Amino acid sequence: MSATSANAATPGGGAAGDFIPAAKPVIGEEEIEAAVRVLRSGNVVQGPQVAAFEDEFAALVAGRHCVAVNSGTSALLLALAGLGIGTGDEVIVPSFTFAATANAVRLTGATPVFADIDPATFCLDPAAVSALIGPRTAAIMPVHLYGHPADMRALGGLATRHGLAVVEDAAQAHGARLDGTPVGGFGDAACFSFYPTKNMHALEGGMVATADAELARRIRLLRNQGMERRYANELVGYNLRLTDVAAAIGRVQLGRLPGWNERRRANAAKLDAGLAGVPGLGIAAAAPDVVHVYHQYTVRVAGGRRDALQAFLTEQGIGCAVYYPTPVHLLPPFVAAGADLALPETQRAAAEVLSLPVHPSLSDADVDRITAAVRSFHLEPDMRELS
Ligand SMILES: *Cc1c(COP(=O)(O)O)cnc(C)c1O
Repeated sequence: MSATSANAATPGGGAAGDFIPAAKPVIGEEEIEAAVRVLRSGNVVQGPQVAAFEDEFAALVAGRHCVAVNSGTSALLLALAGLGIGTGDEVIVPSFTFAATANAVRLTGATPVFADIDPATFCLDPAAVSALIGPRTAAIMPVHLYGHPADMRALGGLATRHGLAVVEDAAQAHGARLDGTPVGGFGDAACFSFYPTKNMHALEGGMVATADAELARRIRLLRNQGMERRYANELVGYNLRLTDVAAAIGRVQLGRLPGWNERRRANAAKLDAGLAGVPGLGIAAAAPDVVHVYHQYTVRVAGGRRDALQAFLTEQGIGCAVYYPTPVHLLPPFVAAGADLALPETQRAAAEVLSLPVHPSLSDADVDRITAAVRSFHLEPDMRELS
């Protein structure tokens, strides 16, 4: 997945009006002006814009310490490394996620151990996690997939009982809440991504949030060659710094995030209503204690018809996508250990899910066109044969 493909224009001319993209990263005049101001200032890397971005982002994560880095993957890597996780450790992760989750574990030298998901939320199933905890388990890494919080109460309870760290992968869930607590406010550390297709972006970028000031300091050292003060290198570190251009864009986007998330939620509610009762289509309802921020609006398509619906919608000029067609444990870097795992809900989800456009740039007419197109596919020809 790349920003370019996310921006892709109409493929081959949609049959019914303008192409509706699956995602639409916003780079508005305000973002451009903020970037140009930084370039003219000459202060371009890990300077005042990065510091201000970290301060302002803290308001989204219950006032925790925030450390900005150059990607969400870097945030995950440094959260794990900062917690001392590495070779010989196991980290329990979902397989139904973007590969970055497991890549970050592997990059520390630790081993990802894949647990199945709860079919109602697409997030880690606490019972499946519990069954995998062993003497080498060091951490649990839940993913708030599609913008829906994982079951942090049950997972946090397990972590406390077994003395494990919790690292939230919140790359898709900026602003989501569970029982009034924002995601990023539960784990020992939480990681966000600012890739263009996420709910907010900084071209590229990431953030680690933690309540632990010492951990925040270790992550600051690790992102910058082991130094906080120039040439006072305290340990072996990386260069995973964020630029001030990215941070300035991120600050503009952070200001817009609440409105955009509201719009995503409104679009999702309209999709829910428009798609209710379609035979063979599964719509996941968010629990009442959850604020879902709909990074994706994802339905299940029964009867092996998912790929046919995706092809039909694409033909109709409606961008849609499968996140994720191959579970991570079956991807080449992980399959040697993963081939024999039984993760039935993960594999069922990979075969059934389809994400429809829900981004804030959709008009009400776009949403109506999406629901009408899905309805027309399911009514013809199969349903006619049944009636
Ligand atoms: C996007 C994403 C990441 C990685 O973020 P980058 O900024 O692209 O490195 C990690 N985990 C999940 C679940 C993601 O969706």
